[in-house]
Amino acid sequence: MDAHGAATGAAAVSGTEVAPDAAELDARDELTHCRADFVLDGPEGTVYLDGNSLGALPRSVPERLADVVEREWGRLLIRSWSESGWWTAPERTGDRIAPLVGAAPGQIVVGDSTSVNVFKAVVGAVRLVREEHGVAEGGGRDEILVDAATFPTDGYIARSAARMTGATVRAVPVSAMAEAAGPSTAVALVNHVDYRTGELHDLAAVTDAVHRAGGRVVWDVCHSAGALPVQLDADGADFAVGCTYKYLNGGPGSPAFLYVRREAQPRFDSPLPGWTSHADPFAMADGYAPGDGAVRGRVGTPDILSMLALEEALTVWDGVSVEAVRAKSLALTDFFLRRVRTYVPDGRAGRLRLTPLTPQEHERRGSQISLLCEDGSAAGGDDPAEAVMAGLHARGVVGDFRRPGVLRFGFTPLYTSFADVDRAARTLGDVLRNTGREAGS
Ligand SMILES: *Cc1c(COP(=O)(O)O)cnc(C)c1O
Repeated sequence: MDAHGAATGAAAVSGTEVAPDAAELDARDELTHCRADFVLDGPEGTVYLDGNSLGALPRSVPERLADVVEREWGRLLIRSWSESGWWTAPERTGDRIAPLVGAAPGQIVVGDSTSVNVFKAVVGAVRLVREEHGVAEGGGRDEILVDAATFPTDGYIARSAARMTGATVRAVPVSAMAEAAGPSTAVALVNHVDYRTGELHDLAAVTDAVHRAGGRVVWDVCHSAGALPVQLDADGADFAVGCTYKYLNGGPGSPAFLYVRREAQPRFDSPLPGWTSHADPFAMADGYAPGDGAVRGRVGTPDILSMLALEEALTVWDGVSVEAVRAKSLALTDFFLRRVRTYVPDGRAGRLRLTPLTPQEHERRGSQISLLCEDGSAAGGDDPAEAVMAGLHARGVVGDFRRPGVLRFGFTPLYTSFADVDRAARTLGDVLRNTGREAGS
């Protein structure tokens, strides 16, 4: 009741006087109707700005999932693998994601976690590049370049993949990736949007530079799929992996996706050649013969409940263009930055200082705003961002924080309104002033 009471209080304060331009922006928003497709039933006045961590629940998913469980599993049982289309769900769901990331059909398979798919893609890319250059392990093309600011799992997996392939890993800032790529480069593993800062990188330019050096690129599009236009085919991406539980709203732990460019598919040698990727899985043959196309990225039995929840969640995209989503995302993040300047003049509140980490330029901005929150007093110690985010949660504004000092606010254009943004910025100002008074004491 505590958080609920506080949230209702916050709503009462700001709800009565929503700034006119938030109302105006909401009135002009061509995506407002999409909000009704989601369950956003938190306590009154809750503003959810954490869709970059776990997307909201699409309204049609519970009924679909109940049908999958009760009828397809409960009654049809084994028949559902064929009659309910379970067996082909990984490619079918991949084809639903394809238009959102600029991929023609037949190149995306859904299954496993992002971490597992990073492993398949990195090892597969090293093998592919060595084959193309006619070098064996130890004969060259033995360096894996990894985005120095990468989400940790990618770095851990890349180092293990390197040990397994006799390669080494070099951490390189994305801004220096083009220059770093050279004759020993096998693969570059790059995050399209930096999860901490929200910086968007130039997929086409980095891909082009690594290609000119004779390497291949694995893109992690976890924070761009469903948030902004991604042009995997047009920009020449070789491999890409992405989450479906963030901006694609597939639900907690919903399976990730793997894109392997059509041209590379016949030579994609997966390090996890499970039986469901076999050319004839039910032959139960001793020897492995890979299937053709996206199927090759499969490993074992697909996670049907999560996958079919995701498939249903993707219906919210029917009739919605990623370009419209991008336009609204930029408007939301611009508006948030503007409101934060209003409610936190000069980025200061007591001892606390707030500095935007996300680039101001639209071409370099993902769909989140990260604010560095520092305690100006030397006393320091505890991370003030943690206390500030706790204060925001208590008042019904849900974002998250990443140590050290980063407040993250994710904007999901399908369900975030400008009124939400205004309320979040206003509450942030209040919480900062309260926390700033106590900080360092
Ligand atoms: C969220 C995220 C992941 C998550 O990987 P899982 O295997 O799903 O836990 C990986 N990479 C990036 C860049 C992410 O943002």
